[in-house]
Amino acid sequence: MFQVNEICKNGESLSLKTDGHLRVVFIGTGSAFAKRRRQSNILIIQGDHHVLIDCGTQGPLALDDIGLDVLKVRCYLPTHSHADHIGGLEEVALMNRYTSTNERPEMIILRDYQDSLWGKSLAGGAEYCEAQQGRPLQLADFFNIQRPKNIEIQGRKCWSYRHGPIEIVIMRTRHFPDTAYSVDESQWCCGVFINRRVWISGDTMFDAEYPIRFSELSEVMFHDCQLFEGGVHASYQELITLPESIRKKMLLYHYGDNWDQPETWVKEADKYTGNPVEDGFLGWTDQQVAYDFF
Ligand SMILES: [Zn+2]
Repeated sequence: MFQVNEICKNGESLSLKTDGHLRVVFIGTGSAFAKRRRQSNILIIQGDHHVLIDCGTQGPLALDDIGLDVLKVRCYLPTHSHADHIGGLEEVALMNRYTSTNERPEMIILRDYQDSLWGKSLAGGAEYCEAQQGRPLQLADFFNIQRPKNIEIQGRKCWSYRHGPIEIVIMRTRHFPDTAYSVDESQWCCGVFINRRVWISGDTMFDAEYPIRFSELSEVMFHDCQLFEGGVHASYQELITLPESIRKKMLLYHYGDNWDQPETWVKEADKYTGNPVEDGFLGWTDQQVAYDFF
């Protein structure tokens, strides 16, 4: 069972510990270009362990909203290289290396994606920070790299990493380019399945087989959702075609700034209201609340 609980009452910082239960906090629930709800970056906390799934360009600000900063978050898992998911990682790397006496923060990342994240994104701002050292820096100079193991769930190839009491299953998604027919033709992107209870799609095009495959195992499914069709995300219009048994455990996130103005994106001929509860979903995902799983 899960409960939605208020956090940061009276302006206090979010604690990165729980009394043993699993806590999921979306520090943002918005799309890549959202101005109202940050971007979709997610803190997973259990016992005295935590991990931040993605740290986009607004990630450090979203942490500041709840009284945290990139020095307090000690473990990161980037899902893919769009800036709303990794744009804050340069700040994480440089702040930890040059402004604190912290150990390197941990990063959970597959070998194949590590080279791409570093070589195509982070190296530009970080590899020559110490010009006198005689060699360019590497991702491992900034982060303590942690490797997930190969596993299989329901016939789908996945990876698993155990972080204290938290098991993070990593699942590839079909996100971009929009012409990709399979995950193998796609650039690296993943979703996560936490403790085999809480499924978070990650950025993905509509791929019905993907939520359906994990639906029986999942207590709650957080699904990427855009408010128009086309492009590289699942749309509200596509998600509504999923069976009702799946929609009713599905909370939608990664939505545009006009999510609460259905008159701007629901057309008269549409057979849905734009209110996800009325349309058979569990609802919109809320920003800055705790989803507590007992
Ligand atoms: Zn993306």
